[in-house]
Amino acid sequence: KQRGRDNYQLFEIDMADKVQRDFNYEQEMLLGINSEHQFSLVYQPKVTHQGDLLGFEALMRWHHPKEGLISPIEFIPIAEESDLIINIGEYALTQAAKQLVLWQGIGYKNVPISINISGRHLVSERLIPYIQRLLIDHPIDANLLEIEITEGVLLTDIDRCIDVLSQLKGLNIKISIDDFGTGYSSLNYLKRLPIDVLKIDKSFIDDCATVVEDGEICGTIINLANNLRIITVAEGVENKEQLDFLTEHGCHVFQGYFFSKPLYPSDIESQYFKKCS
Ligand code: C2E
Ligand code: CA
Ligand code: CA
Ligand code: CA
Repeated sequence: KQRGRDNYQLFEIDMADKVQRDFNYEQEMLLGINSEHQFSLVYQPKVTHQGDLLGFEALMRWHHPKEGLISPIEFIPIAEESDLIINIGEYALTQAAKQLVLWQGIGYKNVPISINISGRHLVSERLIPYIQRLLIDHPIDANLLEIEITEGVLLTDIDRCIDVLSQLKGLNIKISIDDFGTGYSSLNYLKRLPIDVLKIDKSFIDDCATVVEDGEICGTIINLANNLRIITVAEGVENKEQLDFLTEHGCHVFQGYFFSKPLYPSDIESQYFKKCS
């Protein structure tokens, strides 16, 4: 019993530490976004089976002044506990729009960029007006912007989601369901929502070529999407076996380390655009 109590106290201290650290991160993120250049986007190519460029997913990076690079897996969940995640989403939208303008200026006119938007941001009152303003302030084609939302978001308030997604469609923005297959959402939503893209979660892609069940799940998602005229993107493709399996089953868009890690714009311009032009 004594030991149990000690463990409990240890846990309490750990929790207090974590709460303190999360709080510090929150304050630092706010500063980092508003006043300094600590946050930046990296871009991971989406490609065809042959490796031809189709577009990019924008992924956030935080260069902390003391701790160095911090993964979004660490800071996004903390940001999601408050409206900070909306600031991050707005920052991502603006940076991506600026990037599109820059790339257009140097001759790369048709490279779509997808941006991850949290559920909290999606159902907030801020998203639609922000994007309307963004499209006025930046001379870009709206259909080059794609919003990635995770499947789980649809469970929270489906009517509100349908409303916001329809408004986004009205603005010509593309809509992608991220991590598809992990959120237990009803297939009925696919019919009710204006969805352009399904991204099959990496956890199914990992063993699609080696474990029958995973392969079946990927094949079924691709088939369903193809029948509904929705594009499927396979995320986290790391080897040729996965690529070939998915291609044989009708998937046309791939993203993963097998082709490229997320890159800084300077690397895309010097390597990727040169290679593809
Ligand atoms: P996600 O949206 O599912 O993004 C894909 C993640 O998988 C990225 O991790 C990417 O770098 C990684 N990845 C891509 N290909 C491979 C591969 O072949 N193998 C492996 N092992 N990993 C691969 P990252 O950049 O660390 O982002 C992690 C998560 O953080 C994202 O998952 C997304 O949920 C969230 N996130 C990142 N940036 C943002 C953002 O700007 N806003 C929001 N709300 N969330 C973001
Ligand atoms: Ca994503
Ligand atoms: Ca994903
Ligand atoms: Ca994922």
